[in-house]
This record gives sequence, structure tokens and C-alpha cells, in this order.
Amino acid sequence: MKRIYVDYNATTPVRPEVFEEMKPYFVSRFGNPSSVHSFGQDVAKEINVARESVANLIGADSKEIYFTGCGTESDNLALKGIAFANRDKGDHIITSKIEHRAVLDSGHFLEKAGFRVSYLPVDQDGLISPDVLKNAMTPDTILVSIMHSNNEIGTIEPIKELAKIVKEMGAYFHTDAVQSVGKVPLDVRDLQVDLLSISAHKFYGPKGVGAIFIKKGTKIEPFMHGGHQERRKRAGTLNVPGIVGLGKAAELAKAEISEEQARLVKMRDKLIDGLQSQVKGIRLNGHRTKRLPNNVSFCFEKVEGESILLMLDMEGIAASSGSACTSDTLEPSHVILAIGVPAELAHGSVRFSIGILTVEEDIDYILEKTPPIIERLRTLSPLK
Ligand code: PLP
Repeated sequence: MKRIYVDYNATTPVRPEVFEEMKPYFVSRFGNPSSVHSFGQDVAKEINVARESVANLIGADSKEIYFTGCGTESDNLALKGIAFANRDKGDHIITSKIEHRAVLDSGHFLEKAGFRVSYLPVDQDGLISPDVLKNAMTPDTILVSIMHSNNEIGTIEPIKELAKIVKEMGAYFHTDAVQSVGKVPLDVRDLQVDLLSISAHKFYGPKGVGAIFIKKGTKIEPFMHGGHQERRKRAGTLNVPGIVGLGKAAELAKAEISEEQARLVKMRDKLIDGLQSQVKGIRLNGHRTKRLPNNVSFCFEKVEGESILLMLDMEGIAASSGSACTSDTLEPSHVILAIGVPAELAHGSVRFSIGILTVEEDIDYILEKTPPIIERLRTLSPLK
């Protein structure tokens, strides 16, 4: 049977070139980059090469890149680190209702610690309105955290416009760019962001390693305490093979991003148009054009997303009902609800996220298999 992986927003395979680059750092080049001897310094050099590659991918200075354990950690550091370091300036934080749990739950934690957190609504496409943000800003606002693109519905937010408003008010701006980095070109100076989160496993690097861009001069309190690694912003011995892999993934992404983006957009649009023309009673989630090049997300009326996924899996198609982090709950996704989809329809959401190994025949196969699955489930559905 054919097996097609279309869940690249959950995770991606490590590219062979990335894996090759990582290998020596497990066995022969095993030194601790904090050690002064040659074993350590040999490795420290490579950490800095990786730092340059990550910086180069997002238009930063390498001194503004700090390695972390994952995207979740980068988000936690951004929110908690800015909140606790700037408490004397204010106690208000703004984020949105469609953020990843790493940001939302950091917000809930900060509320328990005495901060006020506003969760902005989005429109039916998942976009944050600059006017809504402007109205939510107060003189006490110290941080705004809005994701660059949404992991479930793929919408890309107007970050440059939003950050401009925030900078004019003198607050910090963080963007969770975990789903965008490596997929769409972005530049931290052009966007005017102060902090930006990255995760390696979303663009063909290994799992368990991330990075955060922290603009020079940003006042931030570390929340990992211990050694002096990462210029005292993130204690803990560095995950050397992981960081080397992240660096290589960043280098490859920088070289290939435009071409790959165009290839993915073509297949994404074929899948969206194909499903819309072949299946009645479906709603495209997310903005039609301001969306990630690899994301297709639909709600199907009168069917459960989980049943669709099981039947797709039986045909060898691995898709998702939304975020991998919440797919073990049967609650409708907070993102789908936030774009105004009624709860019964929200249960029928399916996300196809394509990537490097996807080819046009895979799209044809999905378009051949999905409509009869929906039809069959609808004839069986108690919801009709
Ligand atoms: N932010 C977004 C938008 C994500 O999609 C994810 C992962 O799904 C994360 C943060 C968390 O990244 P990590 O898996 O590296 O902790």
C-alpha cells in the first residue's frame, strides 16, 4: 500500500544531509563546548557556525541567537523572561486566542503570578486586526506575543504592521515563528520584532532543539538557572548534535526556500481547489492566500475529523485533525472555535500539511481517496 505523510506541521523527517552533519558529534567530537581544552573548543567553533546559519536565515546577528531545548521552551522564555524582567514597567501582556499552547499556557501561568493577560480575538480567517491590537494596548503593556503563522489553519499574521504599533508604544514584541521559519522567508529587522521562536524539527532538523532570537538590548530574565551557557540566558550543557543539525537545516532552508515555497504552493492550491470542487459541505480554514505554503485545513460537515483520519490512515494517508499536541483530546480545537466555526462543524476538521517528500501524485492520490471517505462516513453518520 502507498504510504503518504502529510503531517509536516506536526514534525518533519531529519534530512539525510542534516543527519550526516550531526553524526560525528555523538561519538568522536563529543567535547563539551564550555570546556577550555581542544576537545571542547573544537566543538565550540561548530556551535558558532550553527549560530551564524540560524542568524543568516532570519536576518539577525549571530550574537542575538540563543539555543534552547525546543520551540516550547523558546516561547516560555519569551513570555516569562520579558514579564519578570520588566515588571517595574507594567503588568499587562497581550497575546491572541489562536496561539500554540506554549504561549497560551505561559499566559495562564503569568496570570497566576499576578500579570494581566489579554487574549485577542481573530476574524473568520484567523487574522488579528491591527485596530483591535491598538485598542488593547495600554501604558502598562510590556509585551505583545502574536504568532507569525498558525500551526493548524496556516494563516500568516500581519506581523510587521502589528509590531509597528507595539514599538510605537514602547513595548516588546515576540512572535512564535515555529511554523514559518524555513518555510517562508522572514527577516527580524524588516518585521521589527524583539523576540522570535524557532524549532528545528519543523524544518528537517532534529527534535528537542530550538532557538530564540533576542534583539540586542532586550531586558529578559532567564528561567533556566545553572551554568553560564548561552551568555547566561539559558543554563544547561548544549545539545551539540542537535544544534549542529539545526544549523545545517537552516543553511539548507536559506538556499532552497524560494524554490520549495513555489513548489509547495502549487500542490497546496491543487489540493484546496480539488477538495472544494469534489466535496460539498466543506469550509476552508484559514486565509485563502495569506497562508503557509504547505497547509491545507478543512472542516467537513456532518463527519468527525477523527473518523476521517482513521479512514485516511487505512488508505496510507497520514494527516491530522489539527495540532499534534492536542490530538489526544476530543475537545474541538481552540483555533477552529476562535475563527467562528460552530462546535459541531469544528469536530470535522482535518489538516493536510505537505513537505519535502510530497509530490504531485500524492496530491492526486489524496484527491482520489478523500471524497469517497467523506461520502461513506456521511451515509453512516448519526449527525445527518
Ligand atoms: N509553536 C508552534 C506554532 C508550534 O506549531 C509548535 C509545535 O507544534 C510549538 C510552538 C512547539 O514547538 P516544539 O515542538 O519544538 O516544542
